[in-house]
Amino acid sequence: MAKTGPKPIPIETRIRRKLKPVWCEPFSDWCYEWQGGTTKRDRGYGTIGTTYKGPKLLVHRVMWELKHGKIPHGLTIDHLCKNTRCCNTDHMRLMTSGANALAGNGPAAQNARKTHCINGHLLSGENLYEWRGRRGCNICRRASARLQKESEVTMQKLLRDISE
Ligand SMILES: [Zn+2]
Ligand SMILES: [Zn+2]
Repeated sequence: MAKTGPKPIPIETRIRRKLKPVWCEPFSDWCYEWQGGTTKRDRGYGTIGTTYKGPKLLVHRVMWELKHGKIPHGLTIDHLCKNTRCCNTDHMRLMTSGANALAGNGPAAQNARKTHCINGHLLSGENLYEWRGRRGCNICRRASARLQKESEVTMQKLLRDISE
């Protein structure tokens, strides 16, 4: 019998193996957050190598193109969920590069974060807890324990989808 090398693993499979479902309040579903390398230290876009010493690809663009086809020249992907490591194509839209740079982090958006948690819950009264100098949101704290469990279930589903 002729020897063959290991079958190359499809890129979608390789990407899905490194995604972690993180609850996204605005969408009421999951960000599939990339757990591998990124373009910047703790933010930026997820990257994945192709061949040995080959170019690196941006994982969110790969996922988009697998679903919708080639991204037209001059257009870029905007993450509506603001999670740049997210690979859930439902959270992305195409837009022109200039518009993307302007959206998102204006002074108004930054100011709002001080009075609200990252998910937009008001940080005051019974919903505010303070612990070791940190302020936090009780709604999110309660939800996160439940979500941790659901996240594991969603992860199993993600991996099941590719094994078919
Ligand atoms: Zn997302
Ligand atoms: Zn909250």
